[in-house]
Amino acid sequence: MEPFEKRVWLSSPTMHGDEMKYIKEAYEANWVSTEGENLSEIERLICEKVGSRYAVPLSCGTAALHLAIKLAGIKQGDNVFCSDMTFAATVNSIVYEKANPIFIDTEYDTWNMDPVALEKAFELYPDTKVVLVVNLYGTPAKYDEICAIAHKHNAIVIEDAAESFGAKYKGRQTGRFGKYNVLSFNGNKIITGSSGGMILTDDEEGINKARKWSTQSREIAPWYQHNEIGYNYRMSNIIAGIVRGQLPYLEKHIDRKKEIYNRYREGFKDLPVTMNPYDANTMEPNFWLSCMLIDENAMCEQVRTDTQTSYVAESGKTCPDEILETLEKYNAEGRPIWKPMHLQPVNKEYTFITKDGKTDVGADIFNRGLCLPSDNKMTLEEQDKIIEIVRSCFE
Ligand SMILES: *Cc1c(COP(=O)(O)O)cnc(C)c1O
Repeated sequence: MEPFEKRVWLSSPTMHGDEMKYIKEAYEANWVSTEGENLSEIERLICEKVGSRYAVPLSCGTAALHLAIKLAGIKQGDNVFCSDMTFAATVNSIVYEKANPIFIDTEYDTWNMDPVALEKAFELYPDTKVVLVVNLYGTPAKYDEICAIAHKHNAIVIEDAAESFGAKYKGRQTGRFGKYNVLSFNGNKIITGSSGGMILTDDEEGINKARKWSTQSREIAPWYQHNEIGYNYRMSNIIAGIVRGQLPYLEKHIDRKKEIYNRYREGFKDLPVTMNPYDANTMEPNFWLSCMLIDENAMCEQVRTDTQTSYVAESGKTCPDEILETLEKYNAEGRPIWKPMHLQPVNKEYTFITKDGKTDVGADIFNRGLCLPSDNKMTLEEQDKIIEIVRSCFE
């Protein structure tokens, strides 16, 4: 097999043409600013889509998370229960406020926060007021269980739906299961603005605060008057034009991602692997990234230090780093599973809670799993070749 001439990406922006129209309109009307019609339109359309009362478009998902943590009243020294297997932005938003993330281990059914471990965390830290839940790779977490546990302990949920825009749990869109909810329009997400994010909530007082904080906390006064610390977190009307142009294509993107996922599942059905799982009775993921998990007995030896990896190739067996290396050789981009937060040196002072005090599910999925090329623009032929490349690693 020859390497791909054109690189096959993990997940790259997929433009449709309308984006340029909205950028151009903003340019010609001179709304090259953090106000304008693109911003008010995406605010309206996304509220409608998700079923949220209010939203504020922001510079990125991380900014939205930070404001959500502030709205939840989190202050220095407070504990926040947080999904362990996630992108660093989730945790950083807690640490920006000098609060303590407590990492909750992952379950195997959805690769999200384990409700059993969450219940245990409340036994150990009953005064915790906030649970920050991520929908990893576009698969919703188990919200019935998680919300019930949080409410029983008088805690609120914040939903980091950065990866799951358009996904549904029991027929309801993700991005509305928390009191405060976060989306991202970063370049590799299901739809993009090149960058950008959004906070969503039904809390009117909260959204007004978020809006104010995001514009440097200007008071209503004839001059720059400030009673509290603010941030420059607003989204640009140009970025909003891209998001606005992408919005009508969200469902098309999801259909394509779902097709990619199902084709991988079919292509690997006789291999000792499983795909990133979800409960088809309650969940409709957006299938943002297709991932696979290698069965334990099909793993060759793989040793990872903090920054390097080595493995011992073995016939009939493989490991994520052999597959990733092989994909790279053919000019295709895969990625390791997001390395769990409790394994990150920067987080070493924080607590990690598992369901039984010993089994580390997150570390296991990190060790045996990987993200496959999941780009919308990958052709069927390209994907067939990726499948063949992966299969060759098991020979
Ligand atoms: C992408 C992402 C974010 C951050 O979004 P940005 O817009 O890049 O700041 C937060 N959480 C998760 C889980 C993400 O994947």
